[in-house]
Amino acid sequence: METQIRKLDYKAIDMDVIAEAGKVVREGGLAAFPTETVYGLGGDALNPASSEKIYAAKGRPSDNPLIVHIADREDVYRIAAQVSEQAKRLMEAFWPGPLTLIFPKKPLVPDKTTGGLSTVAVRMPSDEIARAFIRAAGGFVAAPSANVSGRPSTTTAAHVAEDLSGRIEMILDGGQAVIGLESAIVDVSEEKPVILRPGVVTRAMMEAVIGPMETDLAVTAPDSGIKPKAPGMKYRHYAPRAELTIVEGETEAVTAQVNRLTAEAERKGKRVGIIATDETADRYERGLVKSLGARQHEEEISRHLFEVLRSFDETEVDCIYSESFENAAIGQALMNRLLKAAGHRVIRV
Ligand code: AMP
Ligand code: MG
Repeated sequence: METQIRKLDYKAIDMDVIAEAGKVVREGGLAAFPTETVYGLGGDALNPASSEKIYAAKGRPSDNPLIVHIADREDVYRIAAQVSEQAKRLMEAFWPGPLTLIFPKKPLVPDKTTGGLSTVAVRMPSDEIARAFIRAAGGFVAAPSANVSGRPSTTTAAHVAEDLSGRIEMILDGGQAVIGLESAIVDVSEEKPVILRPGVVTRAMMEAVIGPMETDLAVTAPDSGIKPKAPGMKYRHYAPRAELTIVEGETEAVTAQVNRLTAEAERKGKRVGIIATDETADRYERGLVKSLGARQHEEEISRHLFEVLRSFDETEVDCIYSESFENAAIGQALMNRLLKAAGHRVIRV
């Protein structure tokens, strides 16, 4: 199959292209599309055959449920069997936006879409192209991140093409995703809301709206062996081909340690990549140094994380050392992805 790539301009979204992509999905095909978080791989959420195609295209295990994307808030009531008061307040505060909520599902949603679960994950993106596309596709678009399973999520149409070209009908190109990390996921299907995946909508932001929340232990204590409530969180994720290690501590100590480790690895004939920030990039004496952006602009750091992880795959590096970001307001979201990419290899200095 030849994958059509269509460029779109946010200032004047070409509705003919949107209609074409919508038709692809309504007829059971797949189209990737931009959202404010990462690119999504969209299929008809109410058609089990489409969900099967999504799993096949990504090489994703089919027990890993898909998030259903909607364009209009009221549509949640067509697929959720129950919407709690707390859920309503979160929807009011953060939809449209990078927050996914988990509800008990109505029978209309096929088991194939929810990986056999009795709940359904729903998100209403703020991205204008995404919402126009969802409406054109029939209103309910199942969309995981548009990457081959295990690889970093995609934040540009070129990344999507790299992973999925020839496997899907169409890619809508809306340029670079502004947030760059996937949505926060909150389970509101039971009495106490639980954060299953941290995102840029932080626990503090949500607690300001609904009061105390819990975070799934599998997120806060990833080494505990506890089974995550979001099935997808148990899988190996985001891993670049080279072995990634995070070096954590005070900046001075971190840069010194990375310089030592780099020199040592190079002596052994290894090629080294370094994930740095604008503030520290010129302190590294050797290795292939890539900056995520300025540490004081957290949104810049998160926007570039997956792009930088991917870009190392195009180089010949054998190992990568990364700085740590635990102190950022969105540090939990950022570190959750970085730690997964590193297989939890951390050196504390
Ligand atoms: P992705 O589509 O790549 O952003 O991943 C979606 C994440 O949402 C995965 O970790 C899924 O396991 C999780 N998820 C989707 N639906 C549910 C659900 N009904 N219950 C719990 N987690 C879910
Ligand atoms: Mg994903």
